[in-house]
Parts: sequence; C-alpha cells; structure tokens
Amino acid sequence: MKVPLLDLYAQYQQIKPEMDRAVAEVFESQRFILGPAVEACEQAIAQYSQCTHACGVSSGTDALLIALMAENIGPGDEVITTPYTFFSTAGSIARVGARPVFVDIDPITFNLRPDAVAAAVTGKTRAIMVVHLFGLMADMDPIMAIANEKDLLVIEDAAQAIGSEYNGRRAGSIGAYGCFSFFPSKNLGGAGDGGMVTVRDEARAEKLKTLRNHGMKPKYYNKMIGGNFRLDALQAAVINVKQPHLDEWSEGRKRNAIRYDRLFAEAGLSPDKIRTPWHPDAPGNAPAPEAASDRPGVAYRHIFNQYCIRASDREGLKKHLQERGVGTEVYYPVPLHLQECFKPLGYGKGDFPESERAAAETLALPIYPELTDEQAAYVVESIAEALPPDRS
Ligand SMILES: *Cc1c(COP(=O)(O)O)cnc(C)c1O
Repeated sequence: MKVPLLDLYAQYQQIKPEMDRAVAEVFESQRFILGPAVEACEQAIAQYSQCTHACGVSSGTDALLIALMAENIGPGDEVITTPYTFFSTAGSIARVGARPVFVDIDPITFNLRPDAVAAAVTGKTRAIMVVHLFGLMADMDPIMAIANEKDLLVIEDAAQAIGSEYNGRRAGSIGAYGCFSFFPSKNLGGAGDGGMVTVRDEARAEKLKTLRNHGMKPKYYNKMIGGNFRLDALQAAVINVKQPHLDEWSEGRKRNAIRYDRLFAEAGLSPDKIRTPWHPDAPGNAPAPEAASDRPGVAYRHIFNQYCIRASDREGLKKHLQERGVGTEVYYPVPLHLQECFKPLGYGKGDFPESERAAAETLALPIYPELTDEQAAYVVESIAEALPPDRS
C-alpha cells in the first residue's frame, strides 16, 4: 500500500467539472490581473474569516510582508514571534528591516506562550506576529491583552489556520491583520502561489490595495513605495471553486485525526515513544492545554492542516515509514533562531528548549480529507511495527 502525505489529485477529481469551467472562464475573459474573480475571492474570504475587508496578494509570505509595510514597521523596530514556524514568519520581519524577537512555545499546542511574549516586550517592540500552527489557534485573549496594554499591533500568521476558531472567533479576525496562504498544501490551496490579508477597517484595506500595486493611486502616481503583490485572477478563480468545500474538507481532516487517536490508543503505544497531538476532540490521550494558558475552557476549532505526532526516534520512524510507502514530513527540522541567516541576531542552542525539542521530535502524518480507513490503519500499523508495544 502507498499512503502519500497529501493527495491533491483525489480532491481535484471531486470538483473537476466546476474547476475546469472556472479556469476556462478566466481564459475566455482574458482578464488575468485583479478584476471580478479576485474581488469575489476577497469577499468570500473576508466573510468566511469574520472580517469586513480582504486584499488578495501573491502569497502567504507577501501577506505578512505587506501587513508590516502597511504599518511602516522597519529598522529599529522589534516584532515578537515564535521560532517554531515556517521561515517566512520571521523572514518577513527581517525583510522590512525590523528585528524578529523570538520567544518559546507551549509544548502542548506548539504555539506562542503568552507569558513569554509579555516578558519579551521592550521599548522598541511594535508588534506581535502570532502563528496559529498546524491549524490550532494561539491563545489569543492573553496575547491581545498584552498588545492592548503595551499598545502593540497583532498580526496573525493564519497561513495554516483558515476557518480555525478561538471561542467562536475565526483566525485572522482578532489581530489587526490576518495573513493567509493559498499554497497548494494548505487547507484551501490554489493551483500555485497566492495569499490574502484580512482586516476589519476600510483605511487599512485601502492601504493594502495600494501597496500591492506598487503604491500607485491613481495609476502611475505613486503615493508610497509598494510592490507587485497582486493575486492572479486564475488563482482567485480556483480558490472561488474550492472555498465552498472548505468546511467539508476540514471536517474530513478532523474525522481522520479522531480516527488516528483511536487507532494509536488501540495499538497500545506508550506515550514516551509516540505522542498524539492535543486537540479539542482528543479522547483523553493528551492533557488539555491548561499548561499553555492556565485558563481551561477556551473553545478551539482545530482545522488540522497537519497532524503531528511526537516520536522519541523521529528519524528512525520516518525512514521506516518511507520504506513502507507512507509519506511523512518534518515541520520544521531547524527552529528559526538556529537558522544560519539569523546568526546575526545572536541566538544560540538552548535558548528556546521547547521549540528545539519540537523540531527534533515531531512528524506530520497523512491527514488529507480523502484518506481512507484502510490507509489510516496501515499508517498506524506501520508505526507500531517500528515501535513494538511495551509488555508489562
Ligand atoms: C505556508 C506558510 C507561510 C507562507 O505562505 P506562502 O504562501 O507559501 O508564501 C507563512 N507562514 C506559515 C506558518 C506557513 O505555514
């Protein structure tokens, strides 16, 4: 049996007639830059994400970059963020000339620790860039309280978290900016690169739309220095076809997560060898995130962009699964404070132990909605094979 990490072809088969029609429509119109498909996409994502406005951009990375540009964050400024994330979270901060200030994560949720954020605020701090990793939102209430008290801006890196919820509020609707990615492996993926910034005020939306088109307003009159950060009409058309299916697909991922939890429990693998991820519907196989917030009772909706287990022998397990035809991935092998390009920031090994431990232990398993019972059982069987259960 073969179980890929992600099977986008299975998804395409479900929506092929609509998708082919939508793509053909863009060709018939020959309107490839901005236009009605992009506007429809912006409206749909704003509404889905409980925001009033959205600005389609060229990628999730550019969504983060343009949000920082819109706030004139730059040299001399500090932005607090997590080192356990995809590169572009901190990369975008560095690219505007500001300094990424890393703080450690909670080991259960993999997200920023609010107390660590509070401790890192200095007179130079301008913003907090929160990441909702793997599809689970960060502990937003205490983070917003710190931001309000210290007059800081919150930018949500919601690239992995579209539709994810924190006490009924969607990712991208709590901070000043919500930054989304349509990279094909995200829950709502395009046919290439694309992204979206959500906001809740007209002035910010206007500024983003000016910046994404070189800062021109009107055309050929540059009010500010922007760039080419536009979302392609073709990508918007693809997203417009997929967006109505998003909840059904995210529910499919959740169903698979619950099935994995059950299969792992039945396989009797001890938690010191394999740990399944915490999520709100996990049947007591991991502690609730009180450790993260000391405030039990936050209602989360996890959208499972990834289902990451922790394994004591991660590299051995990954190799074994590869031999058995099971696709896995390591998100992310090197925490950002230890990346070569960030050496000038002066961080070292041991600075953020939980991020380093997560980088060494986590392994993402196939969780895409079309995964079958047989495939999931095969994945867990293959893992159990590599790690025979303890006998007592
Ligand atoms: C994917 C991702 C991005 C970047 O999105 P792109 O569209 O690939 O540029 C940023 N942050 C996180 C957390 C991501 O997962």
